[in-house]
Amino acid sequence: MPPNASVPRSIPSVDRLLAVCSPEIERFGRSMVTELIRGLLAEVRAGEQPQLVAGDDFDEPAFTAILRTKLDGACAPSQRKVLNLTGTVLHTNLGRAVLPPEAAATVADAMTAATNLEYDLAKGSRGERDDHVAAWLTRLTGAEAATVVNNNAAAVLIVLATLAPRKEVIVSRGELVEIGGAFRIPDIMSRAGCRLVEVGTTNRTHPRDYADAIGPRTAAIMKVHTSNYAIQGFTAHVAEDKLADLAHARDLPFLVDLGSGTLVDLERWGLPHEPTARETLGHGADLVTFSGDKLLGGPQAGLIAGRRELVARINRNPLKRALRVDKMRLAALEAILKLYADPDRLCARLPTLAWLTRSRAEIERVADAVTPALRAALDGHAEVRQVECRSQIGSGSLPVDLLASVGVALRPLEGKRKSGRQVERLAAAFRKLPLPVIGRIQDGTLVFDLRTLDDPRLLTRQLAALDLGAGAGAGRMQAQSSATAIAS
Ligand SMILES: *Cc1c(COP(=O)(O)O)cnc(C)c1O
Repeated sequence: MPPNASVPRSIPSVDRLLAVCSPEIERFGRSMVTELIRGLLAEVRAGEQPQLVAGDDFDEPAFTAILRTKLDGACAPSQRKVLNLTGTVLHTNLGRAVLPPEAAATVADAMTAATNLEYDLAKGSRGERDDHVAAWLTRLTGAEAATVVNNNAAAVLIVLATLAPRKEVIVSRGELVEIGGAFRIPDIMSRAGCRLVEVGTTNRTHPRDYADAIGPRTAAIMKVHTSNYAIQGFTAHVAEDKLADLAHARDLPFLVDLGSGTLVDLERWGLPHEPTARETLGHGADLVTFSGDKLLGGPQAGLIAGRRELVARINRNPLKRALRVDKMRLAALEAILKLYADPDRLCARLPTLAWLTRSRAEIERVADAVTPALRAALDGHAEVRQVECRSQIGSGSLPVDLLASVGVALRPLEGKRKSGRQVERLAAAFRKLPLPVIGRIQDGTLVFDLRTLDDPRLLTRQLAALDLGAGAGAGRMQAQSSATAIAS
C-alpha cells in the first residue's frame, strides 16, 4: 500500500512502540498491547489524533499515555460492584440478593479445587449433585423431596414440561402474571408444551370455575403468586387448600409457583406476610417452585420441593441436564440454606434480611453520617436534604408493601428549566465514581435510599472523586420511578 502523503515519515513502527511499552506488556500482555497499538496508529494515520503529530514530530509519550488509557478501558472488569441506593433491596438489574461473605468463601473454595460434586465420598461411587442441598430443602420446607435448577423460570418450565406435556393446565385469569417482560405465564406454558386453560375473571375466580374446567386432558391445577401486582376491590380467589382438594379429588397434582417464596415467616421480624414453602405444601400443594435469589437471599436458582414421585420424574426429564446448576451455585446455596437452620441469627447473617428489617432509626443514623459530607461535596451544585422515603423489597415480593426508610435528596441548584438534564448529570457523576452509586430520580431530585448502605464511608470517602463537570448520558436506571424499578 502506498504511504499516505499526509502522514509524517516519523510515525514509528509497531515494533518500535512495543519496545517502549514493556510496562504495558508486563501488565496487559503482548498480544493485547500490539492490537491496541495497531488500532491507535490507524487512528493517527486517519488523522483522528492530530495532537500526536506536529509536522514531522511524533509525540511518543502522549501516544503511550493514550494507549494506557485505552488498555485500562479495554481490560477493566465489565461487571463491577455498585452501591445500590435505589431503595429496591432486591433489584434484578443490580444482581438481586447480596450473599454474606461466608457463602462467598465457600464458593471460592469450590471454584478453585476439584470437589465431590457428583461423587459419594463414603461409597466411592457416583453421587447426585442436588444431594448437597436437597436434604436442607426438605428439612426447611417439610417436603418429601426437592431439586434445584437454574432459576425459578426454569423450575416452572421443567415442572410443566414434565407433568403436563400436550395437556391442559388450569390457571386463574387473575394470576397470568408477566415478570420483567421475558417471563409470562402464558408463554412459559406454551414453551413447556402445555395448553393454558384460563378460568374465572381478572378480579374473581370461584371453585366452580376450576371444577367446570377439569376435563380428560387436564394435567394439573396451578396457582401463580401475583408477584408484582395486586388486585384490589371486588375480588375473590380460591384458597390453596380448596384447590388442593379439588385437584386431588380428580387425581390431579396441585402446583404452586411461589415466585419469591421464603423459608421463614417474615412476620417474625415485623415484615408483611409472604407465603412460605412449608405453609403452601401444608395446604396440600404437590409441588412448589421458588427463587433462590429473591427473598431467600441466596444465589440465582430455582427450587422445586414437594412429592417424591413428582420430583423424581422431574429429575429424569432430559431438560434437567440443560437446566442444572454448577458447583459454585450449589456451594452458595448450601451455605445459605444452612443459615436458615438457625432463624434466630438469620437476620444478622443474611444481608437481604438485615436490610429489610433495618430500623428507621438506624437508617437515620446513616443519613446523619453522610449528609454533611454530601453537602460539602455538592456545595454550589445541589441542595442536600434528608427525606422520608419508602423502600421496596423488589423482585416481585410484596409489591404493595413499602418499608419506611430515610434517604438524602439531592436537588441541583439554579436553571429550573433544565433541571431534568441537571439531575441526570448529577446521577451520571455518581455513576462514574470508583464504586458507582445508583440512586433513583424522583421529581427532579436524585434520591439515595440509605437502607442498603451499611457503612457510610463507602459513599463519603469517594466524594472527593466526584466530577460535577462531567458530561452525562441520561441515566437510564435512575430515570425509572420507584414504582417501575421492580423488574422480575
Ligand atoms: C420471579 C418469578 C419467577 C421467575 O423467577 P426467576 O428466579 O427470576 O427465574 C417466576 N414466577 C414468579 C411468580 C415470580 O415472581
